[in-house]
Amino acid sequence: MTMPMKGIETKLIHAGEPQPRIGGAVATPIFQSSTFVYEGQADYHDLKYIRLSNTPNHDVLHARLAAVEGSERALVASSGMAAISATLITIVGGGGHMLAQDCLYGGTHDLLTQDFPRLGIEVDFIDANEPATWREALKSNTKAIYVETISNPLMQVGDLIAAADFARTHKLVSMVDNTFASPVNFRPHEAGFDLSLHSATKYLNGHGDIVAGAVIGRAGLIKSIKRTLDHLGGSLDPHACFLLERGMKTLAVRVRYQNESALKIARFLEQHRAVARVNYPGLESHPANLRACELFDGFGAMLSFELKDGVMAAERFLSRVMIPIVAPSLGGVESLITRPAITSHAGMSPEDRERAGISDALIRLSVGLEASEDLIEDFETALADS
Ligand code: PLP
Repeated sequence: MTMPMKGIETKLIHAGEPQPRIGGAVATPIFQSSTFVYEGQADYHDLKYIRLSNTPNHDVLHARLAAVEGSERALVASSGMAAISATLITIVGGGGHMLAQDCLYGGTHDLLTQDFPRLGIEVDFIDANEPATWREALKSNTKAIYVETISNPLMQVGDLIAAADFARTHKLVSMVDNTFASPVNFRPHEAGFDLSLHSATKYLNGHGDIVAGAVIGRAGLIKSIKRTLDHLGGSLDPHACFLLERGMKTLAVRVRYQNESALKIARFLEQHRAVARVNYPGLESHPANLRACELFDGFGAMLSFELKDGVMAAERFLSRVMIPIVAPSLGGVESLITRPAITSHAGMSPEDRERAGISDALIRLSVGLEASEDLIEDFETALADS
């Protein structure tokens, strides 16, 4: 008999679990052993060794992640950036060229602009909302198109279906960083993407206590990326694998609550007299609200906003809020708040930030699992007299 496993809630808890259970254990035990007995493996990459990402803790996560996004195969890595860099080096390395969305997570942007030129990888930035302009950026060595589901930190939602179609037409690999949406709100492979990437540090784990990454997608691509990661040495430690597996079990309930809470907070902020604008794809005022309604099952728990009185007002607000912790990162149970210009996007030059539309006054909020009413009351008090 096979277990019914249509719903993402069931997959998050049971997909890929060892059968039979190891020693009867309900939770996957931690295999804290760097190496395992040689069993005649013919290929180096199949040797059982932690760096080769093939302990039982890795195997469970790989099967689970592939199942929750409805894809063929997955690979975890020691961080989101390890997953992104190993993926891009595999697909675009060796003198390739790629198209990338012009507003991305700062670390990814810095990898593309500061490290890739030295590695001989060329990048051209595109407006993810303007598919008609992408063709002229193609070169004979273009290998990939790279976008974010909901971009960090402006919460833009590009033409994702067009990006996957464009890749298919021009024989490119389509990749999307799905960190902000999480598999609960968006499953990239259903929309035609070849590869989906995650900072599993964020929603997938959800408890702000590990750093991890993942790439999910077509089996042949994941096999090649694993070979690169094996050589670069960016595997995830089994103890972190265990924590990630534990965190993922509650992903669906966490994200659904956070979707609802973030929408209430976005609506509260939008009507407040001290607030100049709010970026949240679930608001009718968001330029891509209709697209987000069509593509997503929920709008996520990340929002950004600007106060009318700029940087000074933003700093005052950050010093007055009591519940959200002023810290970079996102996707955990605690609400976190930051100014991207001095944290997540501080590595970008001021000119690049300005070009991308990231002002110094922009505040980014990751809505946690606290009561929405408490967060709204906290914001109301912090904004009083503004
Ligand atoms: N992608 C996005 C959208 C992110 O926000 C981050 C980190 O903030 C990363 C990738 C990088 O992930 P990590 O910090 O796990 O390397």
